[in-house]
Amino acid sequence: MLASLLLSSMKYDLVRIIDGDTISSTDLGRQSLYSADDIGKNKAEVAFNKIKILNGNKNMEFKNEYLDSYNVETLLYKINIVLDATDSFKTRELINQYCVREGIPWVMTSSYGHMGQLKFINPGKTSCLECMTAGRDLIPINCHYDSVEPYVPQSVSSISTSIVSQFLSGIILDGDLRFIDFNSMEIDRIKIERRPSCKVCQNRIFPLLTDEKIKGRQLY
Ligand SMILES: [Zn+2]
Repeated sequence: MLASLLLSSMKYDLVRIIDGDTISSTDLGRQSLYSADDIGKNKAEVAFNKIKILNGNKNMEFKNEYLDSYNVETLLYKINIVLDATDSFKTRELINQYCVREGIPWVMTSSYGHMGQLKFINPGKTSCLECMTAGRDLIPINCHYDSVEPYVPQSVSSISTSIVSQFLSGIILDGDLRFIDFNSMEIDRIKIERRPSCKVCQNRIFPLLTDEKIKGRQLY
């Protein structure tokens, strides 16, 4: 949610926050927009209200929903770029399939322990998530709520916001995977080429939008 605060202060036409989850005690500290009074409330709505108080941004809206195969078209309607902050592999696959099908760029982020990962995906120009996972067995690390250092998602949010900003400024970005170790302060850059046999970005097969649809919250 830090990314939504940063994006809202950058005066884009519209920032849409999508999250059907509720705030729990493990979110406190890791998500600076949330306080103890917010436990049990919807994450997207609380973030929306806090940001409005902080900077009065009127170009923001929230959706209290989990992104799934049935609402993805509505929730991502007329979106220029998607910033992923989900904790579900399946939801990321859905974002990939939808964004590749529609030609929408997106930024994948994930966090675990003291590690963070980021990859920019620009359909038709860079490799996609499927190129990365099926071709090289590089599975995104995932945020388990009790096993991620609080500074990791905060830092990853800041970096992902800079990727969005650069792209929207017209800068050409690569699709390499950045793997950040916040203990050693080293960033590994792993080249992810487009895979000629990729079922999503080459063969344009989108099972999560057709015969393997997902609904509601996805745990994995
Ligand atoms: Zn691909």
